[in-house]
Amino acid sequence: MKHISTFGASDYQISDLQLLRNSTDADAMARLLAPCPIMRLAADESIAESQIAHLYIVLRGALAVATDTRTGMADGTISKILPGESVGEQAVLDEEANLNAITALEETDVLMIKAELVWQLIDESHVLARNLLRLLSFRIRAANAQLRRRQKLGEFYRQLSMIDGLTDLYNRSWLNDLLPTMVATAQGSHVPLSLIMIDLDHFKRFNDTHGHLAGDQALRTAAGVLGSALRPTDFAVRYGGEEMMVLLPDTSEKVAVAVAERLCERMRQALVFSDMRLPLPHITASFGVASLQPEQDEQSLIAQADAALYRAKAQGRNCVAWQQTPA
Ligand code: GH3
Ligand code: MG
Ligand code: MG
Repeated sequence: MKHISTFGASDYQISDLQLLRNSTDADAMARLLAPCPIMRLAADESIAESQIAHLYIVLRGALAVATDTRTGMADGTISKILPGESVGEQAVLDEEANLNAITALEETDVLMIKAELVWQLIDESHVLARNLLRLLSFRIRAANAQLRRRQKLGEFYRQLSMIDGLTDLYNRSWLNDLLPTMVATAQGSHVPLSLIMIDLDHFKRFNDTHGHLAGDQALRTAAGVLGSALRPTDFAVRYGGEEMMVLLPDTSEKVAVAVAERLCERMRQALVFSDMRLPLPHITASFGVASLQPEQDEQSLIAQADAALYRAKAQGRNCVAWQQTPA
C-alpha cells in the first residue's frame, strides 16, 4: 500500500464520494477531507489490519470484501466495492477493529478517513449522517437476508439427516427422536397408538436372483406403497435394511390390523421395474401389528410388533399377525 496523494491535492471531488452525495456544504467537507491520504493498492494486495478504525472510500479500481471470518458468520460472501462506494462504516461507528478481509481486485486508489474525522464529518453534515444511516440500514438488511438463507439451509440439512436417502422414508434417527414423545403423548392423553413392523419376504433371494440394484428398486417400490396408502397423520420409517415401520397415532389395534391387511394387499400388487423397464417379480412382505398398552414404553412396543412379525413369517409370510393372532 503506497501513499500517493491527499484528497486536497488530488482531482477528486466531494461529488465523487457516495456518502457525501447531495451535500449542501461541499466546501466545508472538502476542507475537512483535504489532509486524508490516498493510498494505492496493487492488484491482489490486501489492506493491512490497523489498530485505528478507518473508513475506506474507493476512488479508482475495485475492492473485494469478504465478510468477517471470526464471528462464525462467514459463508464466503464477497462484496465488490466500486468507485465512490465505501467500506468500514460499522468499524468506525462502533470503534471496533475492522474484521473484514479487504483485497484489491485490480490496481486501486483508496481514500482513508480516520474514525475521529468521520465523527467530525457527521457533526458537520446532516447529509452525510443521513447517507450513512441509509447505507447501514441496507447493510443490516443484507446481513439479515444472509442469516435467513443460512437458517433455511441448516433446516434443510437437519431434515436430510432424518430422511433415508434410498426410500425417502424417515430413518432410524428420526424414529429415535420422535417415538418416545409419541408414546408419552399417547400415554398422557389416553389415546391409542399402533405400530406395524414390516419385513420384505425372501429379500435375500430377490437380491441374489436379480441383483442389488433391482433390490434397491424393490425397496423404493415397497416404500412407495407405504407412502401412498397411509393417512397424512401416519408415519412410515425405514427401520433398517429391508425392514420398515408404520406409526399410526390415535389408531386402535383393530384398525391398525385392517391398515396392515391393506398394505399387504397393495404390496403384492405393486410393480417393480428395473432400469430397463423389464417388470421384475412381485414382492411380498410380512406384517406385525402392536398397539400401545398402559405403562408400556417404546422399546417394549417395538418388541411386541417384532414378535408379531415373527409369527407372520412363521405362518408362511405375505400375511399380517398381531397380538391376539390365533396360533
Ligand atoms: P425373510 O423372508 O425371512 O425376511 O428372508 P430375507 O431373505 O428377507 O431375510 P434376511 O434378513 O436374511 O435378508 C435380508 C436381505 O435384505 C439381505 C440384504 O442383502 C437385503 N438388503 C438389506 N438392505 C438392503 C438394501 O438397502 N438394498 C438391497 N438391495 N438389499 C438390501
Ligand atoms: Mg430382515
Ligand atoms: Mg426379509
